[in-house]
Amino acid sequence: MNKRIQSIQDFLRDILQAIVKPGDIVLDLTAGRGRDTLFLARLVGSEGKVHAFDIQEEAIEETRLLLREHNLEDRVLLYQWDHGRLLEKVQEPVQAAMFNLGYLPGHNKKITTQASSTLAALEGVLQLLRPGGIISLTLYRGHAGGLEEAQAVEEYLRNLSRQHFCVLRGEYINQVSDAPYWILVQKNKGDTE
Ligand code: SAM
Repeated sequence: MNKRIQSIQDFLRDILQAIVKPGDIVLDLTAGRGRDTLFLARLVGSEGKVHAFDIQEEAIEETRLLLREHNLEDRVLLYQWDHGRLLEKVQEPVQAAMFNLGYLPGHNKKITTQASSTLAALEGVLQLLRPGGIISLTLYRGHAGGLEEAQAVEEYLRNLSRQHFCVLRGEYINQVSDAPYWILVQKNKGDTE
């Protein structure tokens, strides 16, 4: 096996790959440059669907171009929209959702995800998540507001019922204390949709 654990995103994608099947419906709450959206579009196959959100026009356009380059535009719905208002756009059950928080690298660092809308988005996703379905979050503490957002997300997730959800957190313990880290949330099987 030639697996590396240097990239949080690669690690999370491996987990998602084991849970998302062709034909599934999934969410990318922070499309950014479109790399996670592209990954999800491949996973769900031609019968599946990705709903991808970003508030920035540049991010939506960059994501659209990447999908077009790979001929995968048809299975992705792109929304230039605040993910905190997710439920106004999506009402169907989903198998997975990805949050890659923070700002769009190479763009305005002041446009970052915020605790209030991230929590609203999480609440929405939890309502849509199918039993066995998963949410991945990549959290950043190094930029202004990042630590507060990460703390708010953790506080919220820490209080989820363990009867219904499993919440797991992972971080590099030999790096600087504000290095990025991840959280996975899975809805327990046996829960009704
Ligand atoms: N997943 C992306 C990729 O694969 O390239 C990277 C995402 S980037 C770290 C975070 C993104 O969240 C930015 O593009 C930013 O515009 C977006 N964002 C910030 N607040 C948002 C909100 N309220 N709703 C939707 N997207 C938001």
